[in-house]
Amino acid sequence: MISMELHQVEIDHCLACQGIWLDAGELEILLEGTHGRDALLASLQPDKATQEHPRKCPICNRRMHKVTIGHNSKVLIDKCLRNDGLWFDTGELEDLLKLGTLGNDAKVLHLLRDMFGRT
Ligand SMILES: [Zn+2]
Repeated sequence: MISMELHQVEIDHCLACQGIWLDAGELEILLEGTHGRDALLASLQPDKATQEHPRKCPICNRRMHKVTIGHNSKVLIDKCLRNDGLWFDTGELEDLLKLGTLGNDAKVLHLLRDMFGRT
C-alpha cells in the first residue's frame, strides 16, 4: 500500500488491487461541505446477507464487517469492528459518490480526479 496525502487527508491506496483504505474519520472529512453528508453517513448499516468474502483490516488484522452505505441504491464496503477505518474495493468509493447525494464540489471528487486522473 502507498500513502497519498490529498486535501489534508491521508489515503492509503493498494497498487495491487486498486482498493482504497480510509482511516476512521477520513470519509467524514472527504464529504465535508456536501449537503447529503450526514444522511449518507447515517445510512451505514451492517449487511448480513452478503456472500462477499470478508477482508482483514490492514491495521488490526481482524476480519472486517460488511456494511452498506446509501439509501435507495447501496454500496457494500468493509468496516473495521474496532473502527480503525473503511475499505473500498476498486470503484466502490466512486460508486458511493454516484448515489446522487453529493454535489460536484465534493472534496472527494477532486481527490479521485487527482489520484486517478478520471472523473
Ligand atoms: Zn482494524
